[in-house]
Amino acid sequence: MSAIAMRELTKVYPNGVRALDALDLEIADGEFFALLGPSGCGKTTLLRTIAGLEVASAGSVLIGERTVTNLPPGKRDVAMVFQDYALYPHMTVQENIAYPLRIRKVDRRSRAAKAADTANELGLSALLERRPGQLSGGQQQRVALARAMACHPQVFLLDEPLSNLDARLRLEARTFLKRLQRELGVTTVFVTHDQAEALALADRIAVMEGGRIRQVGTPTEVFRRPANTFVAGFIGSTPMNLVDAEVHDGELAVAGTRLPMPQDADDRVTDGEKLVYGIRPEYLDYSPEPVPGALSGQVVVVENLGSFSLVSLDVPTGDAVMDGAGDAVGVAGTSLQVVVPEGREPEPGDTGWVVPRPG
Ligand code: ATP
Repeated sequence: MSAIAMRELTKVYPNGVRALDALDLEIADGEFFALLGPSGCGKTTLLRTIAGLEVASAGSVLIGERTVTNLPPGKRDVAMVFQDYALYPHMTVQENIAYPLRIRKVDRRSRAAKAADTANELGLSALLERRPGQLSGGQQQRVALARAMACHPQVFLLDEPLSNLDARLRLEARTFLKRLQRELGVTTVFVTHDQAEALALADRIAVMEGGRIRQVGTPTEVFRRPANTFVAGFIGSTPMNLVDAEVHDGELAVAGTRLPMPQDADDRVTDGEKLVYGIRPEYLDYSPEPVPGALSGQVVVVENLGSFSLVSLDVPTGDAVMDGAGDAVGVAGTSLQVVVPEGREPEPGDTGWVVPRPG
């Protein structure tokens, strides 16, 4: 059984923007699920439509076995944590956590006990009498999580849960959030535009573009086997190299050389087929000396990223560049990026050789 299912879910805002476009998606019970994609792709709209804060224009949303498409937020058994935490500034931590229970008419004593328990689980016991203004960003985030947890919802919805924290706190909060989700086992959907965050936290990721889902998979699947060039370009701390290639005798003809077919390549490729060869900069080796079967090119940019550098090379493909009259005016090239360990960086202008790392 899916914990959450969306069927041909469509959202068109009154201004005509189609934020969700006949989207189908199933999220399993207990999953930690990321909605990932560039700004404006529809992540927040999808989360808010699951929550019931936006009304679907067409299609349906199911939570458990119930169709909730037309139910108000309070009847969906979900809890949403907003990007800015949306805590009540005039209430104490204890009152903030207990507030949803008050709305549900839980009696005062049970409310206080429940709030104390939840605060304890999240390490907030010492802060119960403070107000949100007297808390750090990380503490405020925990209070928002505690408030969401206090009602034991069937589903947690988190909108960019870590975006208000500074870089160091974000790493800490990431670990905390992952542990908490594992312990609670509650189906959790979170929105992020940060692919590193999605890869680190999620059991599965939906990569979105233009109101549609371009791929759903585990972090390893979307990283190792992107389904299309959009996902390939979006996932990874450095974008994947995408180069035109042609299949010849079980090898790949790329920019005037032959490369072995990658082990995990689609086995349906046929001889003579033109395709896009994708390889991550981390899986290429750079050599300042000629290497058999390597692609050679000229170093154009060297970016120092600490323990390694990202080196960009212009690699001629051998194809002629034509002018408007059909005359050859030069040789086309492709750009390749390769990760080079500290201390072995070339200089711009050097000629270098690049070869896929075996295995
Ligand atoms: P971001 O990462 O920037 O928050 P997102 O992926 O969450 O982006 P949404 O906020 O869901 O994207 O927006 C999807 C599209 O719908 C965008 O084109 C946005 O401008 C539009 N949109 C969002 N909210 C509204 C609204 N209330 N009225 C009209 N258009 C909207």
